[in-house]
Amino acid sequence: MRSTPETPPDIYHPADGLSYLFLDFNAYFASVEQHDHPKLRGRPVIVTPLKSEYTGAIAASYEAKVFGIKRGTKVRDARVLCPDIAVMPARHDRYVAMHKILMQEIERHLPPVKIYSIDEAAYRLSRSERKPAPAIETARRIKRALADNVGPALRASIGLAATTLLAKLAAERVKPDGLTVLELDDLPGRLADMPLTDIPGVGAGVAARLARAGVTDFTELWNLQPKHARAIWGSVMGERFWYGLHGYDTADEPTKKSMIGHSRVLTKDHEPPDRARIVARALLLKAASRLRHYEMHAGGLSVSLRLRPEGRWEARRRFIHSQDSFRFLKSLDEMWADYLEYRQADNGATRIGGVTVYLHGLAKPEDMAMQQGDLFASAASEQSNDKRARLWRAVDRMNADQDAKFRKLSGAGLSAPHRKQIGLASQSGLDLNYLGAKIAFARVPDEAEFLY
Ligand SMILES: [Mg+2]
Repeated sequence: MRSTPETPPDIYHPADGLSYLFLDFNAYFASVEQHDHPKLRGRPVIVTPLKSEYTGAIAASYEAKVFGIKRGTKVRDARVLCPDIAVMPARHDRYVAMHKILMQEIERHLPPVKIYSIDEAAYRLSRSERKPAPAIETARRIKRALADNVGPALRASIGLAATTLLAKLAAERVKPDGLTVLELDDLPGRLADMPLTDIPGVGAGVAARLARAGVTDFTELWNLQPKHARAIWGSVMGERFWYGLHGYDTADEPTKKSMIGHSRVLTKDHEPPDRARIVARALLLKAASRLRHYEMHAGGLSVSLRLRPEGRWEARRRFIHSQDSFRFLKSLDEMWADYLEYRQADNGATRIGGVTVYLHGLAKPEDMAMQQGDLFASAASEQSNDKRARLWRAVDRMNADQDAKFRKLSGAGLSAPHRKQIGLASQSGLDLNYLGAKIAFARVPDEAEFLY
């Protein structure tokens, strides 16, 4: 049954029937090996990251699972459990190429909503397909097309439900080659036996926090209120999870932001490029802070300079999605160097009358699960991105506290001349090595350099 919170935020609406089809390829890497090597079909196969008896399998075919072999089983142990096992070294390029072929085939039947990983994706059903009978017919048609047009070795489990989260949980129910319909009326009973850590969005950390809040099984999770979920998760992700679990959709979110930016007309003092650059950097830091507030990541930066006496200079850069102000500042500096070159060609006659910076290509973390090239992204670089994002969020919080104090004092009619924002040392004219591990912060004495 759908449970209704008192006032769901605008962006959520009750989903209309079985809106999503979630497709999860079974033992994907092993299946690609069976597809490419027909002799391996129907046989126990494991895929390993390197040629070693001590490495763990990164995939095991269903025929291997029968022997108790699974992801993580050491090659040496797998040979003991099943002397007949075929051990195949991983071919990541091939798995990516095959992924594209499979996605193309499915897209002939349904529009994709989100590609979650190399072997998982969600698709939207049309209005006429959202009842169980037509939804199941569409799912069967996709399974037939995959078998006939790509190959019978590449089987998938399909889930049909009101939201992408529920459709994924439905797909998890039957493996391999499953086809499961999960309706809201079946909940929470139908998933009562599901371990919490099997649910996407419930990692070990969240599971521990849930346990501390007394939530140890699916039914108790189901019975939470959205606000409580938000508190347990420690972010808006908890609320989003709650709505997804209870059949509320956000897919047609009308207010989806596509860019965040700031603009400033410059006074005469700030017309010279080195002064205008400080303003551009401050505008960018402000935009980055708002980006993090919305829990979004940006994939590009645009800069537009209004020139005096006339004209405009514009530049645009793209980068891997990030929340990291250092990355954004580095991109700005590269563009600024281009501008200085342009200006030199102009004999330095122009002055800067206005600055606009925009972060664009905005995405939420769940939209970024699989950008091409990130499939096998280095964990180290992700970790350092994560660390930096946390660092910047800490800075955002400190600055917000300062703002709140300032507003309180001003509101009480007291003067508060000493509001200080935390910024980069380079904002006060010092140089900063962006790429180095050393991150320099300083209280910036000159408030005027910061724009609110
Ligand atoms: Mg899979």
